Amino acid sequence: MRDRYFDNASTTPLDPGVWAEMEPWLKDEWGNPSSLHSVGRRAAAAVEVARMRLAELVDADDPAEIVFTSGATEANNWLAGGHPQPVFSPYEHSSVEAPFRAAGGRMAEAHGWTLASPAGPTSLLSVVLVNNETGAIPDLRAWFDPDLDPGAGADRLHRDLTQAAGKMPLHDHWYDFGSFSSHKLYGPKGIGAMHLRGGSAPAPMLKGGGQEMGLRSGTLNVPAIVGFGAAAAIALERMGEDRSLAADCREAVLEGLTSVSDLRLNAHTQNSPFILSVSFLGLEAQPLAEELDAQGFQVSTGAACSSRGTEPSLLLSRLGLSDDWNRGTVRISFGRFNTREAAERLGRCMAEAVDRLRRLGGR
Ligand code: PMP
Repeated sequence: MRDRYFDNASTTPLDPGVWAEMEPWLKDEWGNPSSLHSVGRRAAAAVEVARMRLAELVDADDPAEIVFTSGATEANNWLAGGHPQPVFSPYEHSSVEAPFRAAGGRMAEAHGWTLASPAGPTSLLSVVLVNNETGAIPDLRAWFDPDLDPGAGADRLHRDLTQAAGKMPLHDHWYDFGSFSSHKLYGPKGIGAMHLRGGSAPAPMLKGGGQEMGLRSGTLNVPAIVGFGAAAAIALERMGEDRSLAADCREAVLEGLTSVSDLRLNAHTQNSPFILSVSFLGLEAQPLAEELDAQGFQVSTGAACSSRGTEPSLLLSRLGLSDDWNRGTVRISFGRFNTREAAERLGRCMAEAVDRLRRLGGR
């Protein structure tokens, strides 16, 4: 079943290696990492191992730069509150755009996937590293060109790493703040992190017992943190393998679609191999996704990881895609448990389903 699940940008199955490391922390170990006795100290040690593994994943100099949160959404919201009039790109996930707007932020100008030059001084710019709908890697050189004057555009740079962490090397992508979620890299849900590079932190998010260097109080979710750490270690080890499987599957789906007319690929020259966004002119994506689901394949329509709505994608309309293309957009996202054979079958089934639905619709 997992081989036919092509919605890995929404969430991923738990890796068996992750479960193996988590299980004792749900069954036999119950310590509170803040307790000073041996049961607590064992839990604290397990949390620190996970923190180290995450530091390695995002190329942090010091594990203390990693702060656990409930996910990327929480990390993004936290950051938005700490900077006056932040700027966000037009490509952000709603968990950046909504809180940044609420904090008095504004959207940066852009042409296609390229950010236009800054309009004035800015405290914080947020640009997703890999866009969750199409896999595009936006170009932000007009704001931050490491060869020219790093930091010329904004005092601080936030990158939402959610679709990138564990899926591409991060050392070439500099930032001050990086947010990400465990469940996008085969770890458990409800746990994520913020990487505060150099330790520069917004004001404490939750006050209380002083956990997480006083930045986010509350008893730590040890099993989830252990699982997140395991997921990070496995992702680092398997990154090359995972990427080439994704690229293979992406190619296989596209091959299956070669006979389909009025199809467009929503991709950028710099694109993650894990996400494939295709639009079929004049088609509604929802019945197509339902038909594929009935055949055992899960794909998503538009931006389905952020809502259950069937509205056309705001991102794609910002990029100039007209509604009659936009409504027929499906996102196919690849993961570790897909196979090339399943991707070939998906490509063929999708081509047949598009043909059938178009005939039904009189096209
Ligand atoms: N940012 C991006 C780019 C995402 O794809 C997602 C998940 N769809 C999030 C943030 C939010 O992650 P979570 O729901 O785990 O908080």
